[in-house]
Amino acid sequence: MTAMLATGKKGAEILDGRPVADAIKQEVAAEVRELKQARGITPTLAAVLVGDDPASAVYVRNKIRACEEVGIASKHIALEAGTPTEDLLAVVRGLNEDAEVDGILVQLPLPEQIDDGVIIEAIDPQKDVDAFHPINVGLLAMGRPRFVPCTPAGIIELLDRHGTEIAGANAVVVGRSQIVGRPVASLLLQRHATVTICHSKTRDLPSVTQQADILVAAIGRPAFIRGEFIKPGATVIDVGVNKVTDSGQARDLFGSEAEKRIEAIKTRGYTLVGDVHPAEADLVAGRRTPVPGGVGLLTVAMLMRNTLRAARLRRGV
Ligand code: NAP
Repeated sequence: MTAMLATGKKGAEILDGRPVADAIKQEVAAEVRELKQARGITPTLAAVLVGDDPASAVYVRNKIRACEEVGIASKHIALEAGTPTEDLLAVVRGLNEDAEVDGILVQLPLPEQIDDGVIIEAIDPQKDVDAFHPINVGLLAMGRPRFVPCTPAGIIELLDRHGTEIAGANAVVVGRSQIVGRPVASLLLQRHATVTICHSKTRDLPSVTQQADILVAAIGRPAFIRGEFIKPGATVIDVGVNKVTDSGQARDLFGSEAEKRIEAIKTRGYTLVGDVHPAEADLVAGRRTPVPGGVGLLTVAMLMRNTLRAARLRRGV
C-alpha cells in the first residue's frame, strides 16, 4: 500500500447509481404512460413477502415505492413466516393465472421450511421478472435473454451510462451466485469482455483480480477486496451490502467519510459497507461504485424495466 499512497492519488471517481437509476425510471415511466394512454394497459407487479425479515421487508417496500414512482400498479402479498410450501405454491399459481398480473416477485431468501427452487420453478417464466426461472437462466446463458436478473442488468447499465468500455476489457467477477456472479459474467461475456469468474476455491485471488480492467465483487464479505487486489486505474463494481457496527472499523474503512459513517453508527446502530474496502480502493481504482448509492439503486430500477417488458411481451405490444 505504501507505494500506492506515495502516488498521491486523490481518490477514485465515484460511479453514482442515483442519476442512472433515475434516468431508467423516467424512461420506464414515459413508456408506462404511453401504454396506458394508447392501449389502456397498466403493467402490474405482484410482490410476495413470506415472514418478517426486516431487510426483506425494506426491499419489498422499496420495490412497491418504485412502482408508484413509475406508474406500475402493484399488489403486495404478505404471508406468515410459518407458511408451508404448498400454500406459497397456491399463491404463486393464483398469480400465474391472474390476467391482471404481469410480473411476479417472490422476495428471497424464503424461510427454512420452503425450498426456494420449487417456488422459483413454479413461477410462470413469462412473469418471472427476477429472471431466476431455469428457462430464463438458460435463455440468458445462450445469449438470448428474455429477462435479465435485475442486479446484473443494473451493473451493465451503470458501466454503459458512465461510458466504460466493456468490449475487449479483462473482467473479473468474484462470486458465482445465481443472482449476481454467474449472470453478470454471462452479460459481460455477451458484451465481449474476457471474463474470469472467481470463488472461494480460487487460488491466489489477488493475482487474478489484479488483471481486471473491470472488477465485480459479489461476495458478501465486508471490505474483502483490499487495495492490493485492484489493478491501478480499474473500474470496481461493488455489489456487496454488509453492516458495520464498530466505529473503529468505520474509521479504517471510510477515509474522509469516516466521521459521517461513525455518526450513522451512533444514531441507527450501523452503517453499510460493500465487499470492497472503500478507502483502499480510492487509492488504486480509477472508478468505483459507492455503497450505499451504487448498484443497489439500479437493482430496483431494472425490476421496473423488467415488469414493463413482461407486460409488453405477454400482451404482444
Ligand atoms: P452468495 O450467494 O453468498 O455468493 C457469494 C459468492 O462469493 C460465492 O460464489 C462464494 O464462493 C464467493 N466467496 C465467498 N467467500 C469468498 C472468498 N473468500 N474468496 C472468493 N470468493 C468467495 O452471495 P450473493 O447473493 O451473490 O451476494 C453477494 C453480495 O451482494 C451480498 O453482500 C449481497 O447482500 C449483495 N447483493 C446486493 C444486491 C444489490 O442489489 N446491491 C443484490 C444481490 C446481492 P463459493 O461459490 O465457492 O461459495
